[in-house]
Amino acid sequence: MSDNKHSNHVILATHNNLRYERSLPIQWGAKDPLKRGPVVASITDPKSRNAIGTHSGSYTVYRALSIASGQFASQHRPDLQNTESPVKIGPFPQWHDPKKIVSLDPWGLDPQTNFGPLYKKGYDIRPTIAVTQAHLQIPEIHDALRAGRLKPDGKIVKENMDIFVTKVAIDPVWYLPGIAEKLKVEEGELRRILFQETGGMYPELITRPDLKVMLPPIGSSTAYIFGNAKDLANPKVELTCRVHDECNGSDVFGSDICTCRPYLMYGIEDAARTAQRGGVGIIVYYRKEGRALGEVTKFLVYNARKRQKGGDTAANYFLRTECVAGVEDARFQEFMPDCLHLFGIQKIHNLHSMSNMKYDAIVGSGIKVVNRISIPAELIPADAQVEMEAKKAAGYFTPEKKKSKQALKKVKGRNIAE
Ligand SMILES: [Zn+2]
Repeated sequence: MSDNKHSNHVILATHNNLRYERSLPIQWGAKDPLKRGPVVASITDPKSRNAIGTHSGSYTVYRALSIASGQFASQHRPDLQNTESPVKIGPFPQWHDPKKIVSLDPWGLDPQTNFGPLYKKGYDIRPTIAVTQAHLQIPEIHDALRAGRLKPDGKIVKENMDIFVTKVAIDPVWYLPGIAEKLKVEEGELRRILFQETGGMYPELITRPDLKVMLPPIGSSTAYIFGNAKDLANPKVELTCRVHDECNGSDVFGSDICTCRPYLMYGIEDAARTAQRGGVGIIVYYRKEGRALGEVTKFLVYNARKRQKGGDTAANYFLRTECVAGVEDARFQEFMPDCLHLFGIQKIHNLHSMSNMKYDAIVGSGIKVVNRISIPAELIPADAQVEMEAKKAAGYFTPEKKKSKQALKKVKGRNIAE
């Protein structure tokens, strides 16, 4: 055994003697944080746990590997001194509605402040949200400055072309009854399917129906705020927002088969411009790669699109995804607005998204949307015309006229070898 002394004794939360011993009840949506109760998902004290799963989303598995290799002491408790948010966020009325936010824990922001007395009693409560500030250096923003579309103001856009932002990392925390309700499924059925489809990863989904909160091993979300974060909750302040689902190939590597990076960069430019004229901007980045089907599926679909008879056309865009993946889109947008409710958002003046699923989810969650902004035509890469025209034909928001079926066949991408 290593110096880190990880115990060989496996403790399942299903053991009867662990029930309720030190675990605090969670009253989801309660106004007072101490009444709401902290989500205790750390594993240093199994008797205090009141949630299924543990912290850090998908990185929980890397943590396990690090512990297994002897690098990481499993009993380590974070020293949270000086880690608190540099700006005040919340509480907002949305935090107190058990049906409004179901996929993150607003009280997971600065728990050392919200649950101070419980730390003194030895509870190992971990943050699930963290806020910090940064400068962004982005080539497209530099282009916008050179073209005069943006001007430095010394505050939002610095003289050296940096953009000042507040960024917020948000780990997933699911309130299972609320998740089930949004999916329109019985909670028991949801728990059974989650258990089965992860290969039996969390037995407590079945054996501990009293545990209502789960920290799923999935990717997090990140919000980038341009301007004053507290203005997000003020419906009178102009708000520009983009809700962006991860597309690593385009976002990071500049792959030209889709419009993800150009649309994201345009969102950042417009968010900064809004903040400069006294408004506020927010970009929320969700780790839902390839419509939440993942990159392997996505690349298979690209090949199938390019090799099909007649080539890669807008007419067959969605069909090919469905053939490979079994569904054309595995994202479920009903929880997406949770990240907006975290900041108390009530009204979005400029929504950068062409997706009706996203628009419907945002409006359905009680947020007003004034304008919908589609990507400017000149920012669409040539090979991405296939995706863009297919989406517009399928009813994605656009101020333009839809193309006919015949015309869609003519919108073609490159061949596989090109
Ligand atoms: Zn993309």
